[in-house]
Amino acid sequence: MKRIKIKHVLSSDGKELIGQRITVKGWVRAFRSNRFIQINDGSCLANIQAVIDFEKYDGDIIKQITTAAAVSVSGLLIASIGSEQSLELQVEEIEILGAAHPDDVQKTILQPKKHSLELLREQAHLRFRTNTFSAVFRIRHAVAYAIHHYFHSNGFFYLHTPIITGSDAEGAGEMFRVSTLDPKSPPLNEAGEVDYKQDFFGKPVNLTVSGQLEAELAALALGQVYTFGPTFRAENSNTSRHLAEFWMIEPEVAFNDLTDNMDLTEDFLKYLCSFVVENCKEDLSFLNLREQQEQSQKPLNERNELSLVERLTFVIENPFKRLTYSEAIEVLLNSNHHKKKKFQYPIAWGIDLQSEHERYLVEKEFKCPVILSNYPAEIKAFYMRQNDDNKTVAAMDVLFPGIGEIVGGSQREERYDVLLEKCKAFKIPEEELWWYLQTRKLGTVPHAGFGLGFERMIMFVTGMTNIRDVIPFPRTPLNASF
Ligand code: ATP
Ligand code: MN
Repeated sequence: MKRIKIKHVLSSDGKELIGQRITVKGWVRAFRSNRFIQINDGSCLANIQAVIDFEKYDGDIIKQITTAAAVSVSGLLIASIGSEQSLELQVEEIEILGAAHPDDVQKTILQPKKHSLELLREQAHLRFRTNTFSAVFRIRHAVAYAIHHYFHSNGFFYLHTPIITGSDAEGAGEMFRVSTLDPKSPPLNEAGEVDYKQDFFGKPVNLTVSGQLEAELAALALGQVYTFGPTFRAENSNTSRHLAEFWMIEPEVAFNDLTDNMDLTEDFLKYLCSFVVENCKEDLSFLNLREQQEQSQKPLNERNELSLVERLTFVIENPFKRLTYSEAIEVLLNSNHHKKKKFQYPIAWGIDLQSEHERYLVEKEFKCPVILSNYPAEIKAFYMRQNDDNKTVAAMDVLFPGIGEIVGGSQREERYDVLLEKCKAFKIPEEELWWYLQTRKLGTVPHAGFGLGFERMIMFVTGMTNIRDVIPFPRTPLNASF
């Protein structure tokens, strides 16, 4: 018989199946009283309960109905008399598709008890089978889908920018070199340095840190494009918000200025939050409850003021606070927090804001998402548009509660002469970026874009507090398992 997914059986459409013989396939989550089998097939969070009359079956089969075993079950779907579920399956046929011996299960996180997130990370190959991670990864999928949906419905084109890049001009952190040279004895040139002319591409190349420069080229023809791909940064920051391999979404729009860019970001982030609220109800309420349970273990002053669902609703319903970098510095300098010397890092115009400063603005001062704009030129990338004050650039960062920076963007420098000067000031050789510079001489227009860190967004919508727990197989310093 054709397999029916548990999500369908348990949905309102599944009611039509009551009184029919159906087959479900999945993994046993629990087997109680030699009678009630909880089966999960990953299509949704909930299990279906199958009820087996063990006296009718061979003891060998019953013994193999263990936690983690894969089974195929056929039988009559009936309305349940139990209070925990509305439907149940009366087992007529059961097949063990893949046994899971209790001794083997014991060694893993599949044994049914509460495990720490750290232990689950060490067994990332199995953590998909837990409620928490199945919920996180179903939501991750939903957000990826929502991103494409948003841009497609707004007339953007999905652009695939290269993963291997020959330019390291972006300057967004350290890069990973890609090479086919023999690391033990690479060919050397006359100066005794590694001769990259003999490497695969005839020059040094790296994994990309951003698709932005290429996206700009396409935006200057297609009007509005976005990238959504893997990004690599060899920054040695072992934080709960950084990965060496993460996914980034980078829209780029011709004719947009900085205000248009902020409007787009805000609308986009709100859309993603409402998509999750509307389409991931079951998983979201599970994660909401999970967070509440975790919070109840913490001291009162460390607890979140709002629950996960309340935070999402808050972002959807309230305008983001917009202020300039200079205004933010004033706010910080005038804060009691600063006067009581509670900030670890100094505050002065020109500094790169530390995470403690960003979190203060978002969580204590404004209590809502914040868009900071017009940063000092020295602390931002060369391609950001110079403002008339000659001190600041048209940059913007979006700061989220609990996360810090979630989006970084800017209006781009479209004026050839100014851009050339910036390249010089940043010591970027013209030969390396000739193609980028040339677009500024061939019908250049104002344009703007931003980068959203996909995993940081998933942290926000799932309430997970470590970025390693929202990507299937995290890559961080000294860790590339699985
Ligand atoms: P941060 O200051 O947090 O290190 P950044 O300013 O270096 O970030 P950008 O170059 O502006 O980051 O990248 C755009 C977005 O990509 C960031 O706002 C963030 O959401 C995400 N991002 C950047 N670096 C990482 C990383 N190592 N791991 C995960 N996400 C990242
Ligand atoms: Mn940034």
